Amino acid sequence: MKRSNLLKLVQAAMDEYDVYGPVQRRTTWVFDKIDDPNRIDMDYDNTMMSLKKFFIPSKEVMMRFNLREMSIDDSLPDVKAERPQLLVGVHACDIHALLFLDKVFGGKYVDPYYVARRENTTIIGLNCIDPCKYGFCKSVNTHMVNEGYDLYLTPIAGDKYYVHVGSPKGDRLLTIADKLLGEATDEGHKAFKTSMKHKHKSLPVGLHLDNINETFDMAWDDPIWVRLGEECMNCGSCALVCPTCYCYDVADELDLSLSGADRTRKWSTCLYHDFALVAGPHNFRGDPSARLKHRFYHKIRGALHDHGIIACTGCGRCIEHCPAGISVKDVAYELQKRWVGAPVVKGG
Ligand code: SF4
Ligand code: SF4
Repeated sequence: MKRSNLLKLVQAAMDEYDVYGPVQRRTTWVFDKIDDPNRIDMDYDNTMMSLKKFFIPSKEVMMRFNLREMSIDDSLPDVKAERPQLLVGVHACDIHALLFLDKVFGGKYVDPYYVARRENTTIIGLNCIDPCKYGFCKSVNTHMVNEGYDLYLTPIAGDKYYVHVGSPKGDRLLTIADKLLGEATDEGHKAFKTSMKHKHKSLPVGLHLDNINETFDMAWDDPIWVRLGEECMNCGSCALVCPTCYCYDVADELDLSLSGADRTRKWSTCLYHDFALVAGPHNFRGDPSARLKHRFYHKIRGALHDHGIIACTGCGRCIEHCPAGISVKDVAYELQKRWVGAPVVKGG
């Protein structure tokens, strides 16, 4: 498919979908609503906020109390009535993040809001053939995807994309694009292989997952946690930008007139001082180093235990946006070196 035809596909899809894609905003990119396909920047590095905002809004009303009538409206937000969403240009690491969130919100305890939004969404993935500034996807095996997309585009020579269809939704989307998609030719297959060879050569490896669980089993008392606890400002930025951090808080917010209240859920993070604060008062993680350590253990050791994969896609957002310069990749690598010997990272 020619790159210019992708924009025509997006234009046509706007009749049916709310379309979101990467758009440059000052020094970064955001997934923004698209009213003009020319705004989409398919050469973007990374977005500041991840895609989780489309499936778990940062604030959502779950229930409303009417204190005058003493009634409760606990009907769920009507997600199904929302227009279908089309997300364009989703990198492989972010597709992996959604596959992880599926395990959390669609697993043992199903979150109907999340699941309805997932079903209502079509994804056009974008294969990164060049590295982004802070990412380390190849280190955590999220640079490739086999599922989780409806269409997947690999940039190839000649200003074109090599298109993989991943689902019936993708097939359906292509009916809009009937005349926009050319037949795959021998030349196209060759160009695809050239792009992939380039990708595998260009993506760096800064960490290996070998022995990562043993590393964390042994590193519980490592002095690194005290050091990082002193450096960390507990601002929570790392968790808010993280595509797989999903913790939230539920609170009842009274109207100023005291006539009613909303029960809302809002993004939260274990980095906040009051996250583990209970009556007493007692704080299970009152110390900053305990909170930071908890985040690392939950994402790596805990997620491996619960879901068989770590909750880090190597997107690099937390590294880019941490004001204290704390890097999950460097911390994991330092601990691996110390506790299980240095894994070989050169050349992947
Ligand atoms: S972004 Fe950095 S300073 Fe802020 S909570 Fe996370 S690790 Fe701490
Ligand atoms: S921990 Fe950092 S690098 Fe890993 S997925 Fe979250 S934001 Fe991305």
